[in-house]
Amino acid sequence: MTPLKPGSTIGILGGGQLGRMLSIAAAQLGFDVCIFTDEPDSPASRVSAKTIIGNYLDDAALADFARRVSVVTTEFENVPAQTAEALIAAGARVAPSPQALAVAQDRFDEKSFLESIGIATPPFAAVSSQAELEHAVARIGLPAILKTRRLGYDGRGQLRLRTEADVAGAYEKLGAPGILEGFCPFEREVSIIAARGWDGAIVHYDLCENEHAGGILSRTTLPAQISDAILGTALEAAQKVLQAFDYVGVLTIEFFVMPDGSLVANEMAPRVHNSGHWTIEGALTSQFEQHIRAIAGWPLGPTTRIAGIEMLNLIGEEAGDWSALAADPNARLHLYGKRNARAGRKMGHVTKLKF
Ligand code: AMP
Repeated sequence: MTPLKPGSTIGILGGGQLGRMLSIAAAQLGFDVCIFTDEPDSPASRVSAKTIIGNYLDDAALADFARRVSVVTTEFENVPAQTAEALIAAGARVAPSPQALAVAQDRFDEKSFLESIGIATPPFAAVSSQAELEHAVARIGLPAILKTRRLGYDGRGQLRLRTEADVAGAYEKLGAPGILEGFCPFEREVSIIAARGWDGAIVHYDLCENEHAGGILSRTTLPAQISDAILGTALEAAQKVLQAFDYVGVLTIEFFVMPDGSLVANEMAPRVHNSGHWTIEGALTSQFEQHIRAIAGWPLGPTTRIAGIEMLNLIGEEAGDWSALAADPNARLHLYGKRNARAGRKMGHVTKLKF
């Protein structure tokens, strides 16, 4: 595609912190950003040239958005598939493709897709009744994790099933169509962040090592304590997914590293990712700038990491320590401008570089 000229407007669906950091990166390259969100006063809209507040299913509002922007991207994967379709029908160029979004929205479709292109996943089964759950437990065994197929994130919509007693009544507790996954006794969790341009060029960042608390990412460190073979497997998986969707933009895949050194894919995110926030200070091109470059048809930027990294999420009240964090010369502080520090809410992060 012809590279978008500086001064063009980039559209972002979603108003959260990922949209905010994408918008800041877009501004650095001379673009204007128009946010489309159903949330008034969103973190992203407060740093963007324009915001349209509307419902994701409002075709007229989406058509207005499509008219104002040269390309549309998303900052969260739960944008309804109809939204992307309505935008395309209104003449917008959308990246990444709605198919990638649709697959990533449903944990069963996602794992089926990954398996179909030869990427290892935990054993899994779709369950839409207690009887199907019991059947799946008989096949997959315990311990296992029951997750909602759709709209689960940061560990929400998940039940750990350790014993038969946990299985009784579990489907009703979940309350929505689910997926049962075998529990993976992993040694560590890693993620790969890669990007693909309209011309098919692919770049990737160093593998990130991630620690979760209560299902929410708490800490990312680099270099990951892994072998080159693991990086090779993760990269091959990312390339397969990028090519399968003719994908444009940044993509993340999260993996479990098993005791025998094999990699098992947990999930893919068709977007910039929390485990890549360190790239703002720690890599020559941040994941946010990379995504903007990719969707704008610009050359992809170098991904070289310049230091050892520790990224810490500030969850809920942790962001209240902002003045101590601001005084720490080793901590680069990012706050997302969210008005309320609810428990479990991502309020900001700090990145520490070790030279
Ligand atoms: P998710 O929302 O699916 O990414 O799950 C959040 C976290 O729960 C993951 O990062 C893991 O720490 C843990 N988890 C999820 N699925 C599994 C699994 N099949 N086996 C072991 N741990 C899991």
